[in-house]
Amino acid sequence: MARGPFASSEGIGRAREPWSALNRALANDGVDAIGDGASALSSFATYEETNVRASYDVVIVGAGLSGCVIAERLSRELGKRALVVERRAHVGGNCYDYVDEHGIRASKYGAHLFHTKHERVWEYVKRFSEWIPFDHRVRGVVASAETGESKLVPIPPTMDTVNALFGTTISSEEEMEAWYKSERVFPADGAEPANGEEAALMRVGPRLYEAIFKHYTKKQWDKYPNELDASVLMRLPCRTSTDDRYFSDPWQALPKRGYTRIFENMIGNDPNVDVRFDADFFELKRLGKLPKYDLLVYTGQIDSYYAALGMPKLEYRSLRFEEEYIEDTEDGLFFQEAMVVNYTGADVPFTRIVEYKHVPNQPEGRHEKPGTLIAREYSSAEGEPYYPVPNPENRALYERYAELAAKEQGVAFVGRLASYKYFNMDEAILNALEVFDNFVETGALEPKRAPSAFGSA
Ligand SMILES: Cc1cc2nc3c(=O)[nH]c(=O)nc-3n(C[C@H](O)[C@H](O)[C@H](O)COP(=O)(O)OP(=O)(O)OC[C@H]3O[C@@H](n4cnc5c(N)ncnc54)[C@H](O)[C@@H]3O)c2cc1C
Repeated sequence: MARGPFASSEGIGRAREPWSALNRALANDGVDAIGDGASALSSFATYEETNVRASYDVVIVGAGLSGCVIAERLSRELGKRALVVERRAHVGGNCYDYVDEHGIRASKYGAHLFHTKHERVWEYVKRFSEWIPFDHRVRGVVASAETGESKLVPIPPTMDTVNALFGTTISSEEEMEAWYKSERVFPADGAEPANGEEAALMRVGPRLYEAIFKHYTKKQWDKYPNELDASVLMRLPCRTSTDDRYFSDPWQALPKRGYTRIFENMIGNDPNVDVRFDADFFELKRLGKLPKYDLLVYTGQIDSYYAALGMPKLEYRSLRFEEEYIEDTEDGLFFQEAMVVNYTGADVPFTRIVEYKHVPNQPEGRHEKPGTLIAREYSSAEGEPYYPVPNPENRALYERYAELAAKEQGVAFVGRLASYKYFNMDEAILNALEVFDNFVETGALEPKRAPSAFGSA
């Protein structure tokens, strides 16, 4: 039997009914001005002293979502001129994707799945891309509690996961609620959970905890849950239905021609915006090569901005991607059954394998051709800063940096690195849109709400 693409009776990348009907994204929602034609993208270039103006209204550090949304808004609504300096060689920040030499669309910094509950964000992103409805569903290789044998089950755990792992025959939400109730273990005397393990046991009980969360968390954070804040595992998803969608937001979709195209449509041909690559802000500053500007929007790491003060650095987790192109797979086309398969056990060192070919926004016809690209993900302490490490020391240190930032005149600290906060893409966009709102209303480029007001850990 062919292993992919991962589909249901509703189509490629769709959950089965009734869950797929909850997704409000429609086929071909959105506009892609560039479309299938080529575009020169006149705003993008590698930094040279000769290709920047002498002065700008705003200099923006970082061409990720946060920086580009602000550049787009300032230009389109207010006609402001912005220079965006980006130390990497491409636009898009961590959302950057590309079509590789085998014709497969892949993400350079790990798979990205767009989902949002914010209608404002959905309306905004529809201006820069056509979208394909996509219900992200993850599978996990998990050892069965009954036999020890590995099974491929929905993650986060659903009714089907519990039945497969524990040999139960649960068939209603009520039975599932009762099952969780019988499994959950609460701290003594009604106390709050003291750490991540106690939080997890309260949510899912010891058997699911051991099978799915304990070792996976250790691989992700290099710490067992009992060494982590309760907040890290407090929101463990535990479904009582057969809904195997990873996210529950009302809009879930993939950009038809990839994420990079969104940035190209946003500011790629905007005469008010110059995006310059291979341009490190601090290096340009040190060399005196920055143009004059009225305002600075900084989306890099907040601790790098204050490096000269010699304060301790904020701690991050990173990821290492081990990519492999496989010419001959067992079924001739695909390596595994789903786009994302998590490995929850301590027996393999990686956390998950992503197989890009499953998604519906691959170039036309690529699903039917042989050869597939997979990426094994290893969590690591070294490398690009991806996930802030949530613990009291890091939070206290970030507060010290945030106090310094609040005193800066004419500088806005925006985005996930400057806020030391994991933002999903939609949260990064909403945060940037609100920074722009504030500018229009008050003349100050600053966030409307604290980073902590956004949902993710
Ligand atoms: C592995 C991974 C998977 C993710 N998956 C999802 C997902 O499935 N769904 C979802 O909604 N979100 C996902 N996200 C989150 C998403 O990537 C972020 O929301 C988004 O990238 C935030 O945009 P940003 O502009 O704030 O930061 P970034 O994208 O990090 O952009 C900041 C940019 O600033 C540049 N920069 C930093 N310092 C300097 C300097 N000194 N000079 C010049 N440039 C500088 C950096 O090179 C970078 O390009 C994921 C994130 C990661 C790390």
